Amino acid sequence: LAGTVGRGAGGRLVMAEGADVSREADLLARVPDGLLVGGRWRAASDGATFPVHDPSDGSVVKQVASATVEDGRAALDAAVDAFSAWSRTPARERAEVLRRSFDLVVEHADDLALLMTVEMGKPLAESRAEVTYGAEFLRWFAEEAAHVQGRYGANPQGTGRMVVTQHPVGPCYLITPWNFPLAMATRKIAPALAAGCTVVVKPASLTPLTTLLVAQLLLDAGVPAGVVNVVTTTRTGPVSEAVIGDPRLRKLSFTGSTPVGRQLLAQAAGGVLRTSMELGGNAPFVVFDDADLGTAVDGAIAAKFRNIGQACTAANRFLVHRSLADEFARRVTERVAAFRTGRGTQEGVTIGPLIDDRAVAKVEELVDDAVSRGARLLTGGSRVERPGSFYAATVLADVPPDAALLREEIFGPVLAIVPFDDEDEAVRLANDTEYGLVSYVFTESLARGQRMVERLETGMTGLNVGVVSDAAAPFGGWKLSGLGREGGAEGIHEYLQTKYTLTADP
Ligand code: NAD
Repeated sequence: LAGTVGRGAGGRLVMAEGADVSREADLLARVPDGLLVGGRWRAASDGATFPVHDPSDGSVVKQVASATVEDGRAALDAAVDAFSAWSRTPARERAEVLRRSFDLVVEHADDLALLMTVEMGKPLAESRAEVTYGAEFLRWFAEEAAHVQGRYGANPQGTGRMVVTQHPVGPCYLITPWNFPLAMATRKIAPALAAGCTVVVKPASLTPLTTLLVAQLLLDAGVPAGVVNVVTTTRTGPVSEAVIGDPRLRKLSFTGSTPVGRQLLAQAAGGVLRTSMELGGNAPFVVFDDADLGTAVDGAIAAKFRNIGQACTAANRFLVHRSLADEFARRVTERVAAFRTGRGTQEGVTIGPLIDDRAVAKVEELVDDAVSRGARLLTGGSRVERPGSFYAATVLADVPPDAALLREEIFGPVLAIVPFDDEDEAVRLANDTEYGLVSYVFTESLARGQRMVERLETGMTGLNVGVVSDAAAPFGGWKLSGLGREGGAEGIHEYLQTKYTLTADP
């Protein structure tokens, strides 16, 4: 680990940047670095590995195995072999395993949070919040496992009895992104296991470590060999194509960008696979003149700067009624100017690094484009001159309609304000995107709030709140934001298939 090393409290080695070097080294040494196949950790078949970086300074923190196509197939073999026993394991037993997994993840919250901050960059407090959120999927689906039910009744003609039952779809391939390394994994693994499915997980190669540690905790909790397999790899395309193209696979669940989601849907068409797609977003955040401004500003800070703006649910366009656009801009700018930038492990840091230099370059390009078209820069607006992938928290006002960042996901700490004059215009601007994941509305009028909820073309809406994610709720988007729902009572049905049986009139 790079940095200026000194002695901290208790004589332990501490980096100037807030890293407890000996604690991090000890934790990193305990994280598995292999592929999990059939309950065993092992190297890639050709011995290849790839480095995982700390985005706060670019240093390599660990090498992990890089799966070959052959390894991907071996992981699927293991999932196929384990399916028959796991799918017939009583739901209550599957629930107990998931509940023990929840307990272990909570017990190891400090380790998981630190690991996430080291490989992904978000401030430690946010990593802790993600552990709480991500663990909740294990508890929620432990409870749901025992509640899957069918239906029995006479058919309308009175000539027979209809029985409707639910069955696990089979072995699943789960692909997760780097921005929420823990929650995106548990949000897929928990409902799959609850339904009786077995899985091959492919975490993002930028952030594999948290998923690897979670997988070890699942084994410790009693998940049988082969039920959860993990393939880390930089040979993502070929490995995924082989797994998705294998006729034994029955389901693909993907969270990531819309372009990759489209490609995977095309591949999944070959096997007519069940698919769940959690894709990109371009969330509008609408503030009306009858909003409570303090509530709206708090909501804006949460909706924009959580995860350093790298969330599919991040508010991308702040549509603010013209009468309070200036005051809103002044208040958010005051808050943003007080943010502290640094390594996420450092006390008081609110803005960590972006995931890599490519991400910084993209944010830089989008901000420069908006400013060149006439947007007013109120704070930030440039890279932070220091090692690592940092971009300053930024506020832009009067963003013109042709700015690229109104159409594309910014995926960075940039709050872009567009004024509007009336409700119809707000609706038109909010819906003027190919995405439809989430929207946020701030108003004190119940009638207006209800009208907006009905008129906004998004799978989720936050009414006077800036964060909507909840394990108990159906998370998912409309339009190009995806297919299917994760969490809630709906989440388990992504991993179940229906059978109808007609029995003769008794
Ligand atoms: P990405 O699409 O680049 O990668 C996501 C995952 O897909 C990674 O594991 C990556 O290794 C893998 N992948 C990349 N190319 C692949 C290919 N050709 N075949 C198979 N797998 C491939 O996305 P990202 O940059 O990791 O994540 C950011 C994106 O994810 C944003 O668009 C964000 O909105 C979206 N996201 C959506 C949700 C949601 O729930 N809707 C949640 C988090 C992130």
